[in-house]
Amino acid sequence: MNTSRRQFLFRVAAMGAAPAIAIDARLVQTVRGPIEASKLGFTLSHEHICNCTPEFWQKWPKSFGGREGLVARAVEQLKALKASGVDTLIDLTPYDGGRDIRLIEEVSRKSGIQIVACTGQHLFAPPSLVDRPAEALTEFFIEEIEQGIDGTDIKAGIIKVATANDAVTAPEERALRAAARASKATGVRIATHTHARLRGGEKQAEIFEAEGVSPARISLGHSDDSGDIDYLAGLARRGYTLGMDHINRGLKPDARVSWKTRAAHIKQLIDKGFVDRLFLSQDTVLSIAMFPPELQGERERTNPDGIFFNTRTLIPHLKQIGVSSEQIRIMTVENPRRFFGRG
Ligand SMILES: [Zn+2]
Repeated sequence: MNTSRRQFLFRVAAMGAAPAIAIDARLVQTVRGPIEASKLGFTLSHEHICNCTPEFWQKWPKSFGGREGLVARAVEQLKALKASGVDTLIDLTPYDGGRDIRLIEEVSRKSGIQIVACTGQHLFAPPSLVDRPAEALTEFFIEEIEQGIDGTDIKAGIIKVATANDAVTAPEERALRAAARASKATGVRIATHTHARLRGGEKQAEIFEAEGVSPARISLGHSDDSGDIDYLAGLARRGYTLGMDHINRGLKPDARVSWKTRAAHIKQLIDKGFVDRLFLSQDTVLSIAMFPPELQGERERTNPDGIFFNTRTLIPHLKQIGVSSEQIRIMTVENPRRFFGRG
């Protein structure tokens, strides 16, 4: 056993006793190595390059014009995105969301955009490890943070976990507890998927707080699915960052709230003093393989701007309704820097 592996196992064994700060919290792991949090720049907090595992290409080699075709299109879009002022994407696709870490690294290298990849567990699709105890998940998350993902030395820079509804199922709870423990052991931050209209963030917060992980390390995703300002302000007041990241995505018709309404909610939260608790993103997937093609089509119809929606449409609109350029900068640059850079 090599030294780092031994240290790693020792740290996992010791975690129950005292949280160890294992890595320099000012550094953020991107798929091309660590960078200072101050170098993140304009950051989209919740995106996906693709939902297609490495095994997908063996079974369906011609999909999306083949792997090469997908990479070429992604690189073209990401170069344009970078030219429009975006520096960094947080890719919140864990293994069971269809992560292909080598593909993510390739499009980052070829486009020049910085990408932070995640560990974690989504639990909505096979091959989720639903029966794993929290201890095993904690070890797995830490391994992807400290050793690398899928046999590479590409390390995860954030932990993604999810709850599908308001109640937290037993496997979801184990994943949330493992995320909290891995965060305490490594300093790496957490981003979640919540069912915000059912106040799912509050249930997640209970578990995170029981585990003793600071809300300052946690972003509650899809918060803009809720228009309940008391719910949102309550979580922001407790120190959580709210991911306003579903702005104009093709969602189920019964769950759809117009993007202008969501923008108005963002303005209300800013007016209440929570500008430093908001992330802006779009939850786009450049190529969906694991979902039915209708879903991709629906998303494209709803949002033809795709990954350019925030820079082309949302941000100009926010300015029109009275959000200042400085407040935009805080949400897109300053909040990611502070979220990832704080000890
Ligand atoms: Zn997502």
